[in-house]
Amino acid sequence: MESSTEGLVGQLVEIVGSDWVKTDDVELQYYGKDWTNVFHSDPIAIVLPSSIEDVQAIVEVAMDNQVALVPSGGRTGLSGGAVAKQHEIVVAFDRMNKILNFDAVDRQVICQPGVITEHLQQFADDNDLFYPVDFSSSGSSQIGGNVATNAGGIKVIRYGMTRNWILGMKVVTGTGEVLDLNRGLIKNATGYDFRHLFIGSEGTLGLIVELTVALCPKPQDPKVLLLGVEQ
Ligand SMILES: Cc1cc2nc3c(=O)[nH]c(=O)nc-3n(C[C@H](O)[C@H](O)[C@H](O)COP(=O)(O)OP(=O)(O)OC[C@H]3O[C@@H](n4cnc5c(N)ncnc54)[C@H](O)[C@@H]3O)c2cc1C
Repeated sequence: MESSTEGLVGQLVEIVGSDWVKTDDVELQYYGKDWTNVFHSDPIAIVLPSSIEDVQAIVEVAMDNQVALVPSGGRTGLSGGAVAKQHEIVVAFDRMNKILNFDAVDRQVICQPGVITEHLQQFADDNDLFYPVDFSSSGSSQIGGNVATNAGGIKVIRYGMTRNWILGMKVVTGTGEVLDLNRGLIKNATGYDFRHLFIGSEGTLGLIVELTVALCPKPQDPKVLLLGVEQ
């Protein structure tokens, strides 16, 4: 490891501890790419923060060292957005995987970005509610990644894209500032709604560190229709 890389890794270790900075080849390859598998990944290090403060400190280290960051969720993306191919630091959200708050009356969940999509669906189900964004990668993808890709999924015609279900978010920008966007409001006519700029931005504008997600009532008595057509 070059001495400049060693110094950088040391600074990351000071933030999250040595267990949560990965530099061995297997981990670099594992975290450095997504489902596309066509790009060669070449990150400097993988760092796994556990809090918003950790993420802010990581951004500061990246700024000081002039190194780019790549946010990484479940790495099921199909467009190479989570691939680190030019000596970036990968910020993996696996440890920020907690549901922080649930309001049954407003049907809102506040959660960290690393919550696996399927866990959010299960949490909704346990509370007799429904989170309708669903796809075959739900067992691995994270809600932060779903928001960053504005994922659609198999129920999109009925329920819409991920965008429709995001009532608020906190984002750490490239300067380490925390933006608190929309704060779960339904009616907010106070100006620009930057939440929607971050949804679908593929990690290019900042690191999503908290989300307020809307749930809905469970569908009643769903039916499956099978249509046979002649070729
Ligand atoms: C089998 C399979 C089926 C799929 N089906 C569908 C489908 O039906 N509909 C659909 O829309 N997609 C589908 N996808 C694509 C993929 O699952 C979705 O795009 C999913 O939302 C990606 O989430 P992820 O956590 O894996 O994100 P990742 O792949 O880890 O990242 C995707 C992008 O989000 C960014 N990102 C991740 N976390 C954050 C964060 N916290 N803050 C900022 N940026 C972040 C990354 O930098 C990257 O640009 C499918 C993929 C597979 C493999």
